[in-house]
Amino acid sequence: MRPTVWKIIQQQSEYMKTLYITYTHGDEHPPYEIPNALVANPLARERNLRYIETDLNRSFGVKTPVSYEEKRAVELEEMLNDYDLVVDIHRTTAQTKFCGIVTKSDDAVYVLPYGVSAVVLVENIQNSLISRAKHGIALEYPYAYSLHTGSVPLYRVKKFVTAEPHWIDFEETEQGIPYLVNEKAYHGKCFLLEKIHPNINSNLRE
Ligand SMILES: [Zn+2]
Repeated sequence: MRPTVWKIIQQQSEYMKTLYITYTHGDEHPPYEIPNALVANPLARERNLRYIETDLNRSFGVKTPVSYEEKRAVELEEMLNDYDLVVDIHRTTAQTKFCGIVTKSDDAVYVLPYGVSAVVLVENIQNSLISRAKHGIALEYPYAYSLHTGSVPLYRVKKFVTAEPHWIDFEETEQGIPYLVNEKAYHGKCFLLEKIHPNINSNLRE
């Protein structure tokens, strides 16, 4: 039986021209196979490395591309332009719950169908992959994550934490928001999400 995530992918793709990207970090194996997903960093994937020369997720928008990843970013950016939505799939060994990352607050809505418990807004990273897309989200799956076999909860943005963020790389907050450690990647504010419906399938089309 196909997991519910397939329905999310299918339905979201019907709304918008959507590009799924895997292996932006070459050693992060996606939690499920996505047909037609674009492998962002094929050489790093082949060698099972995070990157070859520079972190691809910080290699976009470089004036004079030199490294393998900076040149690859130029190629990728041309492809991103053809899509309304880009979904960048990541995997983390950090102690965290499944969460989403956006660089533009309006894009949080595209994370919600995946059933995350938090969306982190990262505004200060201009050279990341999703920041170059028209609409872009990153999904950060911990290795402990297992696919839902039944319905996936639908969440909505409950509250935006406007206070100056105190956490680096998703350090823990008193609200119990999931956090990342050891990724050395993100500094952001966080959306708290509220579960509103137990079954995604009847809601996604609304
Ligand atoms: Zn990653």
